[in-house]
Amino acid sequence: MTASLIDALREALGKAKVDTSGAGLDARRHDYWMVSHARDLAGEGAPRPACVVRPASIEDVQATLAIAGERRVPVIPFGLGSGVVGGVIASAEAIVLDMGAMNATRFIDPVNLLASFDAGKNGLEAEEAVALQGLTIGHWPQSVAISTVGGWIATRASGQFSTAYGNIEDIVHSIEAVLPGGDVVVLGRGPRASAGPDLRSLMMGSEGCLGVITGVTFSVRRAAQSRALSAFSAPDMRAGFELQRQIIQSGWRPPVMRQYDEREALRLDERAKGCLLLMIHEGPAALVAAQAQAAGAMAKAAGIAVAPLGIVETWLERRNHVPGWEQILPRGIVADTVEISGAWTAIGNIYDHAVASLKEMEGCLAASAHSSHVYRSGLNLYFTFAVATQGPKVMEAVYLDAWRRIMEATDRHGGSLAHHHGIGRVRRDYLERELGASGVALLRRLKQAIDPGGIMNPGVLLPDA
Ligand SMILES: Cc1cc2nc3c(=O)[nH]c(=O)nc-3n(C[C@H](O)[C@H](O)[C@H](O)COP(=O)(O)OP(=O)(O)OC[C@H]3O[C@@H](n4cnc5c(N)ncnc54)[C@H](O)[C@@H]3O)c2cc1C
Repeated sequence: MTASLIDALREALGKAKVDTSGAGLDARRHDYWMVSHARDLAGEGAPRPACVVRPASIEDVQATLAIAGERRVPVIPFGLGSGVVGGVIASAEAIVLDMGAMNATRFIDPVNLLASFDAGKNGLEAEEAVALQGLTIGHWPQSVAISTVGGWIATRASGQFSTAYGNIEDIVHSIEAVLPGGDVVVLGRGPRASAGPDLRSLMMGSEGCLGVITGVTFSVRRAAQSRALSAFSAPDMRAGFELQRQIIQSGWRPPVMRQYDEREALRLDERAKGCLLLMIHEGPAALVAAQAQAAGAMAKAAGIAVAPLGIVETWLERRNHVPGWEQILPRGIVADTVEISGAWTAIGNIYDHAVASLKEMEGCLAASAHSSHVYRSGLNLYFTFAVATQGPKVMEAVYLDAWRRIMEATDRHGGSLAHHHGIGRVRRDYLERELGASGVALLRRLKQAIDPGGIMNPGVLLPDA
C-alpha cells in the first residue's frame, strides 16, 4: 500500500518532491506540542509518516490530494511545525504535506498596500520583504521566525502588536486554497465585499482540516513614523485591567499593551514592582505623543505609578526568546502556555480561579499569567504553568490536568477557551463548550461537505463523533 502510494506520488510530482528518508520523516512527525515531545522522551513518540511531500506548485498540491483522495490516505499540512496544540501528529499511513518549498513572494504593491506570498513563506522573511519597501505586515507573533504565513491563517494567529493592527483575520486580504476535491478557491477580492458569508473565515482556523492554503495576500501598512514607550506598576491585576479598559474604551489604541502579574513581571525584569503594564505607541508623531500623554494621565488619575521605561526595552530585546523543551522535560517537569480571553467583567475572576487552581496541584512550580491582546469588550490572558512530576509515566496526565483547570476556570466565567493557538488535539474535547453542541454539529457538516473522504488532518479540531 505505502509502496504503491509513493510510486504514484513520485510519478505525478517527480521523485525529488517525495521524501522517504529516515531523517526527513523524523523531522516531520509532529509539531511543538509539549505532549509529542514528552512522548518522544518516553520512547512512545509519533510514528514516521509514509512520506513527506514538498509541493512546488498548486498543481503539485492538487495531484497529491487527488492521489490521497483515491486511496483515502490522510494528508497533514505542515508549515514550520511551530504549532503548540498538537495540530500535526503523523500516522504511519499519512502524507505530511510540507509547504516549505512554496515560499515565493508573489508581489508587493506599495500603492494599494498589498503583499502576496506562497503559503510556505517564513513569517520573518515575509516581514523583511515588505520592510525593504518601508512597509510592515503588522503581524509579529513570538514565533515569527519559525512559522509560515499559511500557518498563521490555519491557526488564526495573533501577533504582539495586535491591539492596534489586529489579529490575522484583520490583516488578511485574500486566501488561495486547494480543497480536497482539487478545486482551487481564491477567497477575498476587493478591499471589502458584501457577497454572502465571508468564505475567508472557512480557512482561518481550519488547522489543515478543510484544505491546503497555498497563497496569502495581506493588507499591509506603512511602517510607523514614530514610536513611544510607557510603563506602569499596578498594585494588582484588577487595577491594571481597569486602567487598560479605560484606555481602550476612550479610543486610544497602543499596538502593544501588555500586563504581567507579579511573578512574570519579576521574571521579565528585576526592576519591576507589583504588576507591570507595558505599552508601545506607534503611528504619526502627533498621535503617538498624544496617546502616550493620555495613557500617563489616566494612570496618574488611577493612582498607578510610572515604571522604568528600560523594562519595555528589555521586553523588546527578549520577546522572541523561549526555552526549548529539552531544558524542561528531562527534569520531569511539564509546562505550557495557555491562552484564553474574557470580558472585562470576567477576566479578574478567570485569572484568580485559574491561578489558584493550578497552585493546588501537587508539585506546582509556577502558575502565572500576562495579558497581551486588548479589545473594547475585554482582553486575553496567557497562563504559564510548570509542574514537577514523578516522571515520564505520569507527565501527560499531570499536563492535561493543568490544562483542564485553566479551561474550567475560563468556561465558568463565560470566557473563550482559545485566543490564538487554536484547537489542535489538546482542546478538541472542549470545543463544544465554546461552540455549543449545535455549533460543533455545524462545523462537522461543513467538514463533511468539503472533505467527504475525511482525508484532511484527521483527529484535529473536531472532537470524536
Ligand atoms: C515559541 C513559540 C511562540 C509562539 N508565539 C505565538 C504567537 O505569538 N502568536 C500565535 O498566534 N502563535 C504563536 N505560536 C504558535 C504557532 O507559532 C502558530 O500557531 C503558527 O501560526 C503556526 O504556524 P506554522 O507555519 O509553524 O504551522 P504548523 O505548526 O506547521 O501547523 C499548524 C496547523 O496549521 C496547519 N497548517 C499549516 N500550514 C497549512 C497550510 N498551508 N494549509 C492548511 N493548513 C496548514 C497544520 O496542519 C496544523 O494543524 C508560538 C509557538 C511557539 C513554539
